[in-house]
Amino acid sequence: MKIEISDLTFTYGEHAVLRGATFSVPTGSFLGIIGPNGSGKTTMLKLMSRLLKPKGGCILLGERALEEFGHKELARTMAVVAQDTTAAYQFTVEDIVLMGRAPYIGRFQSETTEDYRIVHHALEITGCTHLRHRAVTELSGGERQRVMIARALAQEPQVLLLDEPTSHLDIGYQQEILDLVKKLSTVDGLTVVAVLHDLNLAAYYCHELVLLHQGKIKACGLPQEVITVENIEEVYGTRVLVTPHPVFGTPQISLLPGILNRHKEQKAPHLHLIAGGGSGGELMRDLNEAGYYLTTGVLNVGDSDWEAARALDIPVIAEVPFSGITEERHRENLALVTEASAVIVAEIPLGHGNLLNLQAALAAAEAGKPVYLLEEKQQNRDFTGGAGAQLLAAVKEKGIVVREKTRLYQLLKDEYPLETFGVEKKGAAH
Ligand code: ADP
Repeated sequence: MKIEISDLTFTYGEHAVLRGATFSVPTGSFLGIIGPNGSGKTTMLKLMSRLLKPKGGCILLGERALEEFGHKELARTMAVVAQDTTAAYQFTVEDIVLMGRAPYIGRFQSETTEDYRIVHHALEITGCTHLRHRAVTELSGGERQRVMIARALAQEPQVLLLDEPTSHLDIGYQQEILDLVKKLSTVDGLTVVAVLHDLNLAAYYCHELVLLHQGKIKACGLPQEVITVENIEEVYGTRVLVTPHPVFGTPQISLLPGILNRHKEQKAPHLHLIAGGGSGGELMRDLNEAGYYLTTGVLNVGDSDWEAARALDIPVIAEVPFSGITEERHRENLALVTEASAVIVAEIPLGHGNLLNLQAALAAAEAGKPVYLLEEKQQNRDFTGGAGAQLLAAVKEKGIVVREKTRLYQLLKDEYPLETFGVEKKGAAH
C-alpha cells in the first residue's frame, strides 16, 4: 500500500515542528526518515500513525485519507513500533504478540487457531519462538525490540512504521532487525517507514531517504541523492567524507576532524612531517588536533597521506602520481624543513623514489634540528637493496627513535608546549 504525504504541517503550541512536508512511499518500499535531533522525525511518524492530528496538509493511505479509516480498520492496515518499548506488565511474549490480533477479534470472541498460527509465524520470523513463555519484562533490549516487531507483524499490516527500531542495539541485532524489515518490504511487499539515526545503516538498508532539517525536507530520494557531503555538512554541521560502500556502492559517511590545521599566524609550534603510503594519516590527525602547525612533503598526489593532508588543510609539497621526487620538490621540502622547529619521520617504506625525503631528514639532523623517527612495527622496509637502510641508520644516529605514537606526543608536548590557539571550524552550521 502506498503512502502519500502532501504539504504536512504541525505545531506544538506556537512552535512549528513540521513546515510543509511532501513525499510519497511506494508500495513495498523501505523509506528511512533521517535528520538531526529535534528535526521533526518522531512527530512525522506520529502524524502518519494518527497519534497526532496535522495542522495542515494530508496523508493518503492507498487512495484514502488517513482520517477516514475506522479504528480497527487502521490497526488492520498499519502497525507501529514506537520508540519506547519498555514493558511494565508481566505479560508473556506470546500474550504480547497475541495482542497484535486484537483488530481481528470481535468483542465477545476469543482467539482462533488461525490467530495462533499467525502469532507463531510472527514469533518465528522475528526469532522469538524460544522466548514465547518468558515474561516480557525479563528480556534484553534487543529481544524486546524483536517482540514488538513480532506483535506488529501479527497485525498483518500493509504498512509498518518504526521509530528508531535499532537504537540501543549492538551491531549484530541492528543487522538482524534491519535485514528482516528489508526482506518484509522487498519480498512480502510491506511498505515500511522507519526513523533511523544511524546514517550509514539508513543508506545501506533503505530504498529511499527523507532528510529532515528544522521541520522541512532538505532532501528526499535515493540514498546517493540524499547522503551528500553538502547535505550532511549543512544539516548536521559536521565535516564528513562520503564514499561508496566498498561492496554495494551505497553511500557511507566517514567523519573528518572539525578542526583544521592551525595557520602560521597563530604561532603554533611548526612540525614538518615526512610520511607516505598511509604512514602519516593518523599522525596528521592527532598532531593537528593537539594544536601544532603542520606541514608535510614530499608526497605523491593521490597517496592516502596526501589525501589526509588535503582533508586537514595541511600545506603539502606534492609530486605527480607514481613519480620519484624531483630536485625541485626536494628543495621546496628542504625549505619547510628549515622553517620547522622539528621534523617527524613516519614509518615509511623506502624506495628509490622517496630517498630524497630521508635526505631532507638527514640534512635537518645534521643542522642540529630535532628529528623524531617513529618505529612502531620495526620491520624491514628497505626496498632499495641497501641504500635506504644505510640512510635510515644515518638519520637514526643523529635523531630520536620513538617506539610508540603516544610516547612521541608526550615528548613533543614537553619540548614544544602548546597554548590555547584559536580554532577554525569548517562546515559547522550551528
Ligand atoms: P526528532 O524525532 O527529529 O528528534 P521530534 O519530532 O521529537 O524530533 O521533535 C521535534 C520538535 O518538537 C523538537 O523541537 C521538540 O522539542 C518538539 N516537541 C516534541 N514533542 C513535543 C511536545 N510533546 N510538546 C512540545 N514540543 C515538542
